[in-house]
Amino acid sequence: MRLLFVCQACGARYFPPTAMAYPDGTPASAVWCSVCRAAAAARGIREPEALAAVAMLLAVRALNAALAARARGDRAARPDVRPSRPARTRRAARGPGTRTRLG
Ligand SMILES: [Zn+2]
Repeated sequence: MRLLFVCQACGARYFPPTAMAYPDGTPASAVWCSVCRAAAAARGIREPEALAAVAMLLAVRALNAALAARARGDRAARPDVRPSRPARTRRAARGPGTRTRLG
């Protein structure tokens, strides 16, 4: 499993390479996605080191929590899946117009 980061400039979630360097040799950032990192580099803005350290720490903790939850077979760790429509009851299956037609 790979570390998941949230870009602090555009809010996108991104998976940088595990080696934290892109195939073209540019370093990956824990703070910005590749697009925002390139834009910041073009403007001469350096990655804030403290923010990068915190982002890396949070990503590692989130990954460890997800792995621990998976190892426990934790159902609560799964995303909350709710039905897209209410359950059909016997009354609802008859349709909404039944009562008015009889009455
Ligand atoms: Zn971005």
